[in-house]
Amino acid sequence: MPTSGKGEPLPAYDPKAAGGAADFFTTRLETMVAWARANSLWPLPFATACCGIEFMSVVSSHYDLSRFGAEVVRFSPRQADLLIVAGTVVDKLGPTLRKIYDQMPEPKWVISMGVCASSGGFYRAYHVTQGIDEIVPVDVYVPGCPPTPEELMYGILELQRKIRSGEKSRDDRSAAAAAAAR
Ligand code: SF4
Repeated sequence: MPTSGKGEPLPAYDPKAAGGAADFFTTRLETMVAWARANSLWPLPFATACCGIEFMSVVSSHYDLSRFGAEVVRFSPRQADLLIVAGTVVDKLGPTLRKIYDQMPEPKWVISMGVCASSGGFYRAYHVTQGIDEIVPVDVYVPGCPPTPEELMYGILELQRKIRSGEKSRDDRSAAAAAAAR
C-alpha cells in the first residue's frame, strides 16, 4: 500500500474528489502511434571516430538516455529505427552506410552527429564524404566537434518533436516529391 512521507497509508485516488477530472480522454490513432514511436526510439550507432565516444557517454548512466525512451541501442539495422552517424565517413564506407540504412525497417530516421558526419568537418580531403546526406537522408544535424552529450540529447528531443508532430522523415518526403514529379 502506498504511504505518505510519515508512513501513513494514502487514501485511494478518487477523480471526483480531485475536482471531477474526467477519467477518459480522446485522441487520434495516428497521434497515439506517433507519441509511442517518438518515445521508444531504438538507435543504431554508426560510430567511426571520436564522436562515437561522446555517444557512449550519452547512453551511460550519467546522462541516462532512458529518460527519453531512446536507450535501447541495437547493433542490427533490422532492429533499429534511428541511425546515428557519429564520426568521419570516408568514401569507401559510403556503400556500407547506405546498405545499413536500407536494411532498417520503416519508419526510420537519421541523426548526423558532429561536423565530420554533417559536412566532412575539417577533412577537406578527396577521400572523405563531405556530408552523409550525399548517401542517406538526414533528419537532424547536431553541430559540434564533438557535440556535447547535451547537444546530442537536444538533437534526439528535436527528432522526437518532429515525429510527434507527424512530420515525415526526410526519406518519406524525398519519395513523395519524386512521385509527384513523375
Ligand atoms: S566532429 Fe570532431 S569529434 Fe566528431 S569525429 Fe569529427 S573530429 Fe572527431
